[in-house]
Amino acid sequence: MTRALPARASGEAGRPIMTGLASLPVFFNLKGKRAILAGGSNAVLWKAELLQAAGADVEVYAVAPCPGLAELAERRPSVRLFLRDVQNEDLNGAALAIADVGSAAEAERFRAAANAAGAPANVIDKPAFSDFQFGAIVDRSPLVIAISTDGASPILTQALRGRIEAILPGAIKLWAAAAKSWRKPLKALALPPKARRRFWELFNAKAFAANGAPGENLFAELLAEAGRQSQSVEKGSVALVGAGPGDPELLTLKALRMLQSADVVLYDDLVAPAIVDMARREAEKIAVGKRGYKPSCQQDHIISMMIGLAKEGKRVVRLKGGDPMIFGRATEEISALRAAGIAIEVVPGVTAALGAAAALQVSLTERDKARRVQFITAHAHDGKLPQDIDWRALSDPRASSVVYMGARTLGVLVERLLAHGLDPATPALLVERATCADERRIGATIASLPGKVAAETLSGPCLIFIGAVFAATEGEVAPAKEAAQID
Ligand code: SAH
Repeated sequence: MTRALPARASGEAGRPIMTGLASLPVFFNLKGKRAILAGGSNAVLWKAELLQAAGADVEVYAVAPCPGLAELAERRPSVRLFLRDVQNEDLNGAALAIADVGSAAEAERFRAAANAAGAPANVIDKPAFSDFQFGAIVDRSPLVIAISTDGASPILTQALRGRIEAILPGAIKLWAAAAKSWRKPLKALALPPKARRRFWELFNAKAFAANGAPGENLFAELLAEAGRQSQSVEKGSVALVGAGPGDPELLTLKALRMLQSADVVLYDDLVAPAIVDMARREAEKIAVGKRGYKPSCQQDHIISMMIGLAKEGKRVVRLKGGDPMIFGRATEEISALRAAGIAIEVVPGVTAALGAAAALQVSLTERDKARRVQFITAHAHDGKLPQDIDWRALSDPRASSVVYMGARTLGVLVERLLAHGLDPATPALLVERATCADERRIGATIASLPGKVAAETLSGPCLIFIGAVFAATEGEVAPAKEAAQID
């Protein structure tokens, strides 16, 4: 006789036990099993198509089937159509029973008959009479992903499906099929566990990076590489990854993948928490770039931390705001990592200037107004305006200029620009927290911008835009984003 274990009192110490799963996703092998469908609607047609695709022997009972059902039965021998109502005996030995019926009484009757015959039932659009639900699927068979929100929101389900589709590598179907066909030969080789794990890690990395199908020699190549790597001490790596200007949607797919395979994420203050949250749950997340340090110590500290972690064999992601190569001190980090013999990769991001221009819907290279685009910093090592600014270039009326780190030195910058002959009426604009929900814009002319900005309190990162292309933004006054206020 078996006895139930005593229930644990809540709050008792021990491994946390999972609770609250809305429904249990299972992947049912239907090959050669009978699936019974009652009803002739298009909804039944779709279920019949799905079930035959999964290998079931499908029987559809319908007095008045829709034309699609007749066509499906004609084209697929595994789908049989009976022009009558379903009888209780039809349900004997069925693996699944599905009906599309109008009334609750009919639904109840169908479910009772199916259950009496030992089959779980689903009544289309009637979850109260269903033993199981169909999820939305992403089909890259043999890879199948199913999504359920327990009826919370079909629109949310669709949106999630779109996101999942977007992050799946293009040829994942072929890679999943290759993985399936390699399981047996790999097992037969009886590799040491470390080499086997390495084989599959290398396989994953290749699958995610690939544009096409796995190459013919890949099995042998991965095997050799996994053997080599499992002999040597595991090598860590560092990826400098651009997080974009703020809006998490602007992250690249590659950045997302990097975050999801990182062991450690070192992130700057500028990176939105929602982006840091996208990192692998088990990854250690460390905020670097906290203010209060002297910038140089801080940079040295970050570099030595990256090297230390990579030498421990960790996959380190150095997550930087915008693009890592634009005013991101990437060169220092790259050369220190190279000198330490650590593998480096750089993943670009949307730099703040381009994120802001998109939000403004202003083309930085608008024909006839701009001949070039220039990104400058107005912040030298000592925190003052750099001495070596090319004032002629910056006061060129046919340039679109974007000033990074320029809010503090704005007054002096404008003084010097006007002294170098820039037209005081040149359109100029300050954008704070570009692309974030609380983005603010202060539109003006170059001569009036410092005064307008001084009247506001700025707390987030700011860019200053100067040039004829910004003429249309002159009316922008803080707080410019009405949507942010309505929220
Ligand atoms: N690598 C970053 C820039 C780092 S320098 C990039 O490519 O965007 C930091 C400066 O970038 C800030 O002082 C500010 O001038 C600018 N910046 C970064 N994010 C910003 C944002 N969301 N809105 C406005 N300016 C931003």
